[in-house]
Amino acid sequence: MMSDVVYVGLGSNMDNPQEQLQEAVKHIHNHEQVSVQTCSFLYESSPMGPQNQSNFINAVCQLNTSLTPIELLDFLQSVEQLHGRTRVGERWGPRTLDLDILLFNNLRMDNDRLTLPHYGMADREFVLVPLFEIAPDLIMQDGRRISVWVKECTLDGLKRLPIKLKTGEFSFQ
Ligand code: AMP
Repeated sequence: MMSDVVYVGLGSNMDNPQEQLQEAVKHIHNHEQVSVQTCSFLYESSPMGPQNQSNFINAVCQLNTSLTPIELLDFLQSVEQLHGRTRVGERWGPRTLDLDILLFNNLRMDNDRLTLPHYGMADREFVLVPLFEIAPDLIMQDGRRISVWVKECTLDGLKRLPIKLKTGEFSFQ
């Protein structure tokens, strides 16, 4: 049963970001233990950290899965690798594909590979706004509604694009 509900944040600022995100969703959905349920619109955001790089394109998807959190992380990291992401660059530098597990049911964990809920959500508008779009009733880990988190987040230069990633059945090529 793919009954665990997971929210994943996607981001890219290299090599045709929109296509990177669409291909990533296809790859993720093609895993037999993962099903992509919903995707937000695409959002354009200014980069965190070094400013001498292109804007990012971000989205959030809801998945159902029967993988464990670590199995899902391994799988998402293999998808990042497929997209040519290397981890030698500077922190917060340009990247072809970044996949973060934001929430895995209500699970909390913190070890050297995985922190759940994802540690960076509160101050990242490019995560919170698309998450709010697809899950407006979420109660966050401090017991407050996601709408409150969105209100308290600095909204600065995030732009919603009139484009959604395709979900559903893909014939993988
Ligand atoms: P980054 O370069 O920002 O994508 O960070 C990647 C590292 O964060 C990986 O080595 C993961 O093991 C670790 N990590 C910790 N928590 C999470 C999470 N919730 N989702 C994805 N990666 C995570």
